[in-house]
Amino acid sequence: MTICIKDNIQNMNLVIGCTVGCDYCYARNNVNRWHMIEDFSNPEFFEDKLRMMDRKKPHIWLLTGMSDLFGWKEEWREKVFEKIRNNPQHQFLFLTKRPELLDFETDLENAWFGVTVTRRSELHRIDDLKEHIRARHYHVTFEPLFDDPGRVDLSGIEWIVVGTMTGAKSRKIHTEPDWAWSLTEQAHEKKIPVFMKEDLEPIIGEKNMVQEFPDAFEKVLRLQKEMK
Ligand code: SF4
Repeated sequence: MTICIKDNIQNMNLVIGCTVGCDYCYARNNVNRWHMIEDFSNPEFFEDKLRMMDRKKPHIWLLTGMSDLFGWKEEWREKVFEKIRNNPQHQFLFLTKRPELLDFETDLENAWFGVTVTRRSELHRIDDLKEHIRARHYHVTFEPLFDDPGRVDLSGIEWIVVGTMTGAKSRKIHTEPDWAWSLTEQAHEKKIPVFMKEDLEPIIGEKNMVQEFPDAFEKVLRLQKEMK
């Protein structure tokens, strides 16, 4: 049975707002609809939400569901990293589309830094990620996939996510199953787990869906069940 990524990875929107300006951004629409902040292009830090990390029950948190890491102020990042260090029971994911504008190093064992790649012309982001964020764990999200990324250098990457366009714009965008298969095969050649997002199911077919997590995430999900 196909699983939904949001049932396994929860959003913790510590920062809301982003200056990247993707035309397909759902976060901007939601933030504007619910008036969550004054101006989406002026990110705000909600420090009180850091208390969510005190939960003893382990979680996998995505911290950039309504922002891009490059839009975070350095002092916000440092506060969040300190809290992450003090809560090793959780795993934390960050995403950026502007890795070339970041420059830091961290030895956090439970923080995963990733880039979004939607087309072949954005593959350079993977190299930029490893050069500008010197960290323990890397991941790549190929979503929404607009063209065939072709041959991809996945060395040093520990997890990939593949997805397509959803919502109203999905009628105009078509992700070819071969693109998702090619990425899956390339990742598996390097023993990298692959997670196809649920939206790919109509394209790929339920029985062909690949939904794998890194071992560290599997451990969290197993402990979550045991603590129910
Ligand atoms: S980077 Fe993410 S949050 Fe920022 S505009 Fe693009 S989709 Fe929206």
